[in-house]
Amino acid sequence: METDNAAPCERFSPEVLGFMQLAIDQAKLALDSLEVPVGCVIVEGGNVIAAGRNRTNETRNATRHAEMEALDVLLVQWQRSGFSAAEVAQKFSVCSFYVTCEPCIMCAAALSIIGVKEVYYGCANDKFGGCGSILSLNSSSSEACIRSVSELAFSAHCLMDVGSY
Ligand SMILES: [Zn+2]
Repeated sequence: METDNAAPCERFSPEVLGFMQLAIDQAKLALDSLEVPVGCVIVEGGNVIAAGRNRTNETRNATRHAEMEALDVLLVQWQRSGFSAAEVAQKFSVCSFYVTCEPCIMCAAALSIIGVKEVYYGCANDKFGGCGSILSLNSSSSEACIRSVSELAFSAHCLMDVGSY
């Protein structure tokens, strides 16, 4: 039975925590490269199919967040495989994203538009968070200026909800 004051390791399955550890490993790679340490892995059917880390400094491109890096890996693969736009949308609809920090507003909007299944994030992002901290772009009740956002909702789960301690 889940309780609000349960420790994260008690509230989430070993599988979820294991994937988050892989995202943390990506964040460590980012830190080693003098980037803001954020990492992401994308999981489909219990398998990691892509990973990414923050590369904003390296690329001198403020949009190269971990989620964007990871999903671009898949877009390149799937385009090379000749998948149609509909097939790509179908594939993203069964993907789970594990990110060490709550996706920012830009990334949350992108994940909503591509229609991912769900996002697990390690901690809230109280400056730029797009999954509840600032905006709730994952929510079907979002008032964001995204057309048909109600059809694009994904579930978001925060592993380290500070308010639960
Ligand atoms: Zn972002």
